[in-house]
Amino acid sequence: MPINNKALQAQLRQLNNNFRIHASHELSAILELADMLNRKPVDSEPILLELRNRLHKIAGSAGTFGLKTLGENARILELQIKNSPIHELDRPARRALIAGLQQLSSQLAVASVPPADSTPVPVPASDTNLTERRRRIFLLESNETLSDDICNTLNSFGYETLGFSRFSDLSVAIEAGLPDALIIDFSLIDQPALVYLKDLHVGLSESLPLIALADDHKFTKQLQAVRAGAQGFFTKPVDLPALENRLESCFNKRHSEPFRVLIIDDDHALAARFEAVLRGSDMLVEVLLEPTGLLNVMARFAPDVVLMDVNMPDYSGPELAQIIRLNDDWLRVPIIYLSAETDTRLQMAALIKAGDDFITKPISDSDLLNAVFSRAQRARRMGQALARDSLTGLLKHADIKDQVVLEVERSVRTRQPVSVAMIDIDLFKSVNDKHGHGMGDNVIRALANLLRQRLRKIDRLGRYGGEEFVAVLPACNAVQAQHLLDEIRRDFNTLQFNGADGLFNCSFSAGISACDNPDWWGNDLLEQADKALYRAKNLGRNRVECSRQDDSEEQA
Ligand code: GH3
Ligand code: MG
Ligand code: MG
Repeated sequence: MPINNKALQAQLRQLNNNFRIHASHELSAILELADMLNRKPVDSEPILLELRNRLHKIAGSAGTFGLKTLGENARILELQIKNSPIHELDRPARRALIAGLQQLSSQLAVASVPPADSTPVPVPASDTNLTERRRRIFLLESNETLSDDICNTLNSFGYETLGFSRFSDLSVAIEAGLPDALIIDFSLIDQPALVYLKDLHVGLSESLPLIALADDHKFTKQLQAVRAGAQGFFTKPVDLPALENRLESCFNKRHSEPFRVLIIDDDHALAARFEAVLRGSDMLVEVLLEPTGLLNVMARFAPDVVLMDVNMPDYSGPELAQIIRLNDDWLRVPIIYLSAETDTRLQMAALIKAGDDFITKPISDSDLLNAVFSRAQRARRMGQALARDSLTGLLKHADIKDQVVLEVERSVRTRQPVSVAMIDIDLFKSVNDKHGHGMGDNVIRALANLLRQRLRKIDRLGRYGGEEFVAVLPACNAVQAQHLLDEIRRDFNTLQFNGADGLFNCSFSAGISACDNPDWWGNDLLEQADKALYRAKNLGRNRVECSRQDDSEEQA
């Protein structure tokens, strides 16, 4: 029966919208899990279990909120996981599952377009669905030129930046709604404003990144900034790409996955206490009371840190630590001994066998947290440094090539388009020659950050070579890809770098190939994109070219 009551209809629409927001968070979590699966983890069981739970919830609720297809597809994927025991989830099945998960989120995007009192409007093939929510930055800066420069640069990186010239205006805006980060010129800050900034952080569940701008490097100014909670300090003239880089690392720190801690201790009460303290700080914790299960739990749980008791009835901590160290996969996992042993000679003896650190019991909750947090963070960073390109944090050559293959296979299977872009900085040798290799690195990093900000979560981005990048854009045809890359190209070209003898700009050229019509399926997209890139260079650089049938003849 149709609902006629307008108020009720509005209420239902509101509920539907709320659910859509909730579902889009759920789907991002699912995408991230799919991403983890894609990275071939040692143990996919916990990931699959969590996926199943999340899919189960969407399957059970989406239909009620007008998203019937989404619910049905979530159910199919849930059953797919449920019906295939982990060890039977072979490569093709795993790929199919990941592809299905990735498609779920595009279904929400399609369903999210206007609520229907009229006929549904098809999603336009514009770039609006190629971008995600922009992070909001509030900037306090009274110098108009600098303020404009910062806003324009950050906006071209995909942020939404609002500039204020007086603290009073900034605080009114903050009261109306907290931004995602603050950039503040500390010469505009007096004592009450400092206190206001400090108090801002109180009661927030996660930190609000604050970056300080100043006229000089004076110690007192830096101290003032640190006391107000600053996580970055930049003097004028501000190095804008470096500022953006710092912002990005603040966000990455904030949104990283929870740390995983394995506690091995035969004292149940103590283990439970440590567990509660660490869980209270959002870490994932497992307690191993029976050491014979050590190898299984290491493989399944993949901890970032192991907290190890030294004296247990049947096995010693150093023995278990040595067993962990026998396996190459776990060499980077820090092992911290927790012991009542205060004799430093005995402590050293245990460390020499295996293990990284000693914490003596009793230990206060905050000391425990600090010890675990710092080791876990360091271990994580080292892991990322090894797995990713060290300069840009992007996928390395071989991994991005794998992603191209995976996405093309998926596109052939689903008959959805996919585009590949090959991007190469123009005349980069002369950047190195004129401004030094270090500045060259800054330019590479800035382009990496710009691309990362402007692409979607489902896109893949890698550093293909020195100053060459590859992006894979699923569900995106050649026209959309060219449009997007051209926008990024223009923005990159307006970025100003602070060279030794003044400001300078750079540009890039890009070649695009796409699997978006039957003639192209099965073509080598990387090779085609490379040829289009070659043409862009030949046509004068600083441009984006799409691949054409006659590229190979031109090159010959
Ligand atoms: P084109 O417009 O034709 O691409 O000219 P180009 O000078 O950019 O091209 P070419 O490939 O000749 O030079 C690329 C240079 O990039 C050569 C190399 O020294 C430099 N390079 C490669 N990797 C890095 C890096 O990690 N950091 C820095 N600073 N330079 C790098
Ligand atoms: Mg180049
Ligand atoms: Mg090159």
